[in-house]
Amino acid sequence: MSRTFPLEKIRNIGIIAHIDAGKTTATEMILHHTRRTYKVGSVDEGTAVMDWMEQERERGITITSAATTCHWREHCINIIDTPGHVDFTAEVERSLRVLDGGVVIFDGVAGVEAQSEAVWRQADKYGVVRICFINKMDRIGADFHRTVNMINERLRIKALPIQLPVGSEKDFRGIIDLVENKVIAFSDPNSASIEEGETLLAKHRQALIENLAELDEQIMLLYLDGQDVSASQIKAAIRRLTISNCIVPVLCGSALRDRGIQLLLDAIVDYLPSPLDIPPISATDPKRGEEILRLASDDEPFSALAFKTVFDPFMGRLVYLRVYSGRAKAGAQVLNSSIDKKERLGKLYVMHADHREEVDHAETGSIVASLGLKMTSTGDTLCEPTRPVLLEAIRFAEPVLSMAVEPKTKVDQDKLDDSLAKLTMEDPTFKVYHDKETGQTLISGMGELHLEVLMERIFREYGVRVNAGKPQVAYKETITIPVESEGRFIRQSGGRGQYGHVWLRIEPGERGSGFEFRDQIRSGAIPKGFTPSVEAGAKSALQSGGLASYPVIDVKVTLYDGSFHEVDSSDVAFRMAAFIAMRDGIDKAKPVILEPIMEVEITTPNQFLGDIIGDLNSRRTHIEGIESRDEFSTIRCLVPLAETFGFAGDLRSLSQGRASHIMCFHRYEELPQDLAEQIAARMGRTR
Ligand code: GDP
Repeated sequence: MSRTFPLEKIRNIGIIAHIDAGKTTATEMILHHTRRTYKVGSVDEGTAVMDWMEQERERGITITSAATTCHWREHCINIIDTPGHVDFTAEVERSLRVLDGGVVIFDGVAGVEAQSEAVWRQADKYGVVRICFINKMDRIGADFHRTVNMINERLRIKALPIQLPVGSEKDFRGIIDLVENKVIAFSDPNSASIEEGETLLAKHRQALIENLAELDEQIMLLYLDGQDVSASQIKAAIRRLTISNCIVPVLCGSALRDRGIQLLLDAIVDYLPSPLDIPPISATDPKRGEEILRLASDDEPFSALAFKTVFDPFMGRLVYLRVYSGRAKAGAQVLNSSIDKKERLGKLYVMHADHREEVDHAETGSIVASLGLKMTSTGDTLCEPTRPVLLEAIRFAEPVLSMAVEPKTKVDQDKLDDSLAKLTMEDPTFKVYHDKETGQTLISGMGELHLEVLMERIFREYGVRVNAGKPQVAYKETITIPVESEGRFIRQSGGRGQYGHVWLRIEPGERGSGFEFRDQIRSGAIPKGFTPSVEAGAKSALQSGGLASYPVIDVKVTLYDGSFHEVDSSDVAFRMAAFIAMRDGIDKAKPVILEPIMEVEITTPNQFLGDIIGDLNSRRTHIEGIESRDEFSTIRCLVPLAETFGFAGDLRSLSQGRASHIMCFHRYEELPQDLAEQIAARMGRTR
């Protein structure tokens, strides 16, 4: 069956940038040049096409990943919008998971900032192939070479400039295209820019070829033979090296002034991978657990990952899918292998920034939005029902901050519950709990800003005004020594009794490892059929810990002995026995309370540095380093989340509003003894 676009002409990309580097402006220019938008929106006026959520416009930040399709040189480019703010890392991770390539935008003045580094590492994790665009070359202080050096040093990758700016700041007059061997002058082509450009071109093109010869055998052979290397040979080499993550090509321009955007589009087509260039997607057989590879081909069985769920006020529930293999017709029945339920795909759309296009099929490599999937949520796999596979789910961090919420007027309770249920489906790092004891509704997320944005959405999209309590830190507990613990659940009551008996080895796991379970019973002391119940029982005991009833994390549990009864043993009895063994074991294993630690980076004019450090020192902060450049300093530090409340306001008043900061979750660490005792006394033992 014929495809709309051959697979090799598809690019699934993301535009990745530090907040304010110019991602929105660049995206709009791309849409403008690919003729999807006729009137170029401007971020400053809040009319951006991609920022379609109202509050994003107000805040000027992009927080959800809308997918937009556009066309360039007979290629189909799907742009998955990635957020720039690290409070929304779940959004970044989910979009990175389904991208094949990324354009990383840097501000030519600020260079490589902390957030860009954080997102760069995430992109490494998902193997996203990248090109870099150094933006804002027209701004005062823009420095192309310094930014290239920062990419080399901070991101530890070989940055290969394939363009050079002619002039900078007000004098940014042209771009030297080292590959095509030409100078593009922005205004008067007879001006001095060309002459200056030509000299630079000759020198740097030679250097580019030498650089490539070191890394690529085909160019090396041509170079050694003294042969001319053509533009297409250079392009092919750059493509090979980029896709194998040996280099990142670096481009430059000014999105605001529409400089270098067409060259950027060319580079997306020339250097970023098609679905055929990336390794086949690895999946598992949901029943047997074996690995299965699915090739990027329409002839393979259908498999797709739901990477985004949105409640569109006009259309209803839209689920964005990245199709990895095969094809499925609109309305077809598919299996959601993550929850083992069949569903109908419903209508399918390709989304553009300003309109949607209904399509008949979801094809390999495409990004489509499905209208009609009711049970599928973010991270789920959809597949051909007769050929089930599970794609690796997106891993999301656990929320670290929680807050009690209630509707301002009681009649809104149902509406609030409904809106919270919908938002949790959209955002896996947003959780809702109902505390049975206090009757409160608690919401939790990744930071103050994250929760604030969600509160605003509840008001704007669902019309519910909410009273929110003070944000509370989501503490956890863990154990510090290994123990062995016995659990028995034996009941004799007339008829059939209950018999479950286990011995568990309970050990501290590595930080971040969560819960690991192993069955080491060799002797048949407990039939294998009961193992899942033992695991479930052990896991349920982690809900509340031994000191202050917080959830217990990072624990390794091994079932190594026990006994059973031919008649009386049951799943329930083993679950209870494991629960008892765990509860007693955790108490003996010297539990401690863990608190979330945030990684904070503050940039401030030097004159406020002393006061800010003084403030940080009063917040149990560990300062990791201070870097100074010109009249600004950047402080990198680790601050317990509990100490960060009100920090944004204090920073503003200490620096006359001139310091800025970013914050993201780092890891859980043990709470100092005195604070742990206070918390344990306050929480009491409730279990
Ligand atoms: P985002 O947060 O990465 O999406 O960045 P935006 O696209 O919203 O841009 C942030 C600010 O930088 C806006 O005020 C833009 O007008 C401005 N900006 C974007 N690109 C350029 C550029 O090339 N030159 C200059 N001087 N300003 C730019």
